[in-house]
Amino acid sequence: MKKKSPWWLAWLWGLNLTLAGGLLAAFLFLDGLPQIPAGATITSAPGIAFTVTPVNTATPFTAPTATRKPRPTAAPPTVTPTPTRLPYGEGPITIGFSAGGRPLQIFKFGNGPKVRMIVAGIHGGYEWNTIALADEMIAYLAGQPHLIPDDVTLYILRSLNPDGEARSHDENGRVNNNGVDLNRNWPASTWVADWDRANCWNQTETTSGTHPGSEPETVALMLFLSIHKPQALISYHSAALGIFPGGTPPDPDSVRLAEQLSEVMPYPYPPLDIGCEYTGTLADWAAEHGIAAVDMELTNHVETDFDLNLRALQVLIDWEDEE
Ligand SMILES: [Zn+2]
Repeated sequence: MKKKSPWWLAWLWGLNLTLAGGLLAAFLFLDGLPQIPAGATITSAPGIAFTVTPVNTATPFTAPTATRKPRPTAAPPTVTPTPTRLPYGEGPITIGFSAGGRPLQIFKFGNGPKVRMIVAGIHGGYEWNTIALADEMIAYLAGQPHLIPDDVTLYILRSLNPDGEARSHDENGRVNNNGVDLNRNWPASTWVADWDRANCWNQTETTSGTHPGSEPETVALMLFLSIHKPQALISYHSAALGIFPGGTPPDPDSVRLAEQLSEVMPYPYPPLDIGCEYTGTLADWAAEHGIAAVDMELTNHVETDFDLNLRALQVLIDWEDEE
């Protein structure tokens, strides 16, 4: 009678077979199969082909190495904030707040020593199209920063009267939240507490402020201009009356800027005389502080005259302090 093998012998035999099979499989698949070069095209069946993509060949895994944090040996380094780069140029820079607490925002283009300034919206929502023009210019220059030469810095203040802009796009949007006409509030020699309204804008009640430079909008821009010292400035208005050089009597440099603008712009120059005396204007103050400045009126209260004002921008960029 044949003796039956013990159960553990069969179990060992089975284990041997399993180990041998595993070793053979490892040999064949890990070492024995031919290497397919990356990028090779494999045809697996008629009409079906694929390309071998290398996996993780370029960036071998590197185990992280632990490093000990060094102990501070001196005062921690000063943290320098990185300027936020927004889609528009290098702005906006908030230079202050309106009477109603709204930010006054300036966009900067270029970084040269020749400084130029555009101010829009001093008459708020009543002249909202000047703000729309500023926004168009900002977007245009943000997309083409090379248009500003290396030796020029251009600042654009998109809305000096955001209170009026927010209130309404009609005559009620002209003044700030203190009821002040910001283009009568500047501490120029021409400032007056009141003026003859008969031939001037008189559709709503306005004041020139409790004193020259009484308004936060005026003070904020005054400080900005005093620090950054532009050589030439355009303050946009609407509508239709033309190009007004700053100063009373008109400042010679401001007259020269107005003349240069009138050579490329269809706006009236000399400006239309409606018998109004303009007092305490931004352009007056600027002209008295060495800035060639004009008030310039768009054609109407709706259009931005964008293409036309690209010509004005070029005049501003090309401005030479002395002739
Ligand atoms: Zn105006």
